[in-house]
Amino acid sequence: MLVRRVLLAILLTGLAATSHCRAADQTTPPNIVLIFVDDLGYSDVGCFGAKDIRTPNIDRLAAEGTRFTSFYVSQPVCTASRASLMTGCYANRVGLSGALNHTSKVGIHADEVLLPELLRQRGYATAIFGKWHLGHRPEFSPLKHGFQEFLGIPYSNDNGPLHPVVKTIPSLPWIDGEKTAELDPDQSQFTQRLTEHAIRFLERHRDQPFFLYVPHIMPHVPIFASQKFKGRSGRGLYGDVVEELDWSVGAIIGALKRLNLEDNTLVIFTSDNGPFLSYGEHAGTASPFREGKLTTFEGGVRTPCVMWFPEKIPAGRTCDEPVASIDLLPTLAKLVGAPLPKQPIDGLDVWPILSGQPNARTPHESLLFFSGDELQAIRSGDWKLHFAHDYLTVAGPPGRAGKPANFEKMQPKSIEESGIRGIASRHGYEVRRIEQSLFNLKDDPGEAHNVAKQNPDVVRRLEALAEKAREELGDSIANRRGRGIRPVGRVD
Ligand code: MG
Repeated sequence: MLVRRVLLAILLTGLAATSHCRAADQTTPPNIVLIFVDDLGYSDVGCFGAKDIRTPNIDRLAAEGTRFTSFYVSQPVCTASRASLMTGCYANRVGLSGALNHTSKVGIHADEVLLPELLRQRGYATAIFGKWHLGHRPEFSPLKHGFQEFLGIPYSNDNGPLHPVVKTIPSLPWIDGEKTAELDPDQSQFTQRLTEHAIRFLERHRDQPFFLYVPHIMPHVPIFASQKFKGRSGRGLYGDVVEELDWSVGAIIGALKRLNLEDNTLVIFTSDNGPFLSYGEHAGTASPFREGKLTTFEGGVRTPCVMWFPEKIPAGRTCDEPVASIDLLPTLAKLVGAPLPKQPIDGLDVWPILSGQPNARTPHESLLFFSGDELQAIRSGDWKLHFAHDYLTVAGPPGRAGKPANFEKMQPKSIEESGIRGIASRHGYEVRRIEQSLFNLKDDPGEAHNVAKQNPDVVRRLEALAEKAREELGDSIANRRGRGIRPVGRVD
């Protein structure tokens, strides 16, 4: 009898402790986990249409959360996309474009207020495990911009001896904090290592609000999977790499559940830009969209996005309302009660959309698509207007075995050669031109049928919106410098 009474007392104490935890959770600011993979195509995960790559963990996240089918990054390339994610600004506003490399002397400016800095003000523990890409010089370190821990690489994983074309690039550093811990780390271990660190971070910070940013290095070329995942998918090594990333998502969610953190954690999964199509079987797919990475067609800027936040973000829902990566900073700031940066930002709070409020609409009259400083396209409602511009398309048959298209005919070029022709020469693209074209994304998501002539009023409306945007953000096509452009960080 006594034993039973003692057992009952222990049980009740346990229950009280559990309910105390739950009650405490409701007043604790939510944890944020942002998983940002690199160059994953729109249709490379099961819940976005992949048939030959198994992604049960991302699919489960979508089943228990919301799938965003019109999620946009601001620019179709690594550095610019990350600059927007971290600042809530169009990348050209903060002076960053393209993809920085080991010779770059620029990076994120000290005066910019990044998402982790906002969250630090609210007592968050912050970490980045993966690829930073906002400047590799000491003053641009993530530890100087709001992150307390950093493990990973400063720029892309092809920026080293494994670049398929340029053979003069020095070793790729693996950074721990602000120190180089290794040179040319084993890339087949990247996904495993970053995941292990992410889970240890969760375990260490389970009693404190945290922001865990996991910008996975894969599936950016050169692609690698660990031994355990090689040969498993129906789409060769690329599929294996994505299946390993899916494992990583499952491991992180599993840790959140094991640590009883799932009720108060928002998880966001998306990609920095579309697939690097020139690499053929080593690149993803963006079906049903046109083109991929490096272009402002939908294949370059629309990425698969899933958000999961039990009880807060509806389960099993698909949301086609446009949401942009620039919106995450202001939305998360509002969610956790952090003040917005004092300088202007471009993103807006989209929590009503994320949380599934009926009839919630994007607060943006238009979304802008810059490539570098060129305003190449604008979307408003279902309409997308491309201004006349040059773009990159794969030159001939796509590459094989990790080499880009046209590899046999390529002359090795320096990585410093910038601009659209420099990129084309290094990655097997050719330059084409699109004249001003209007597409209706609802009827024509593949941007194949120019309906400008039939819709002159729509063209005029979008042109007027673009003109207003140029005043603030500039446009090198129109030879305009915007009044809102801020300086990039620069070292001598
Ligand atoms: Mg990328």
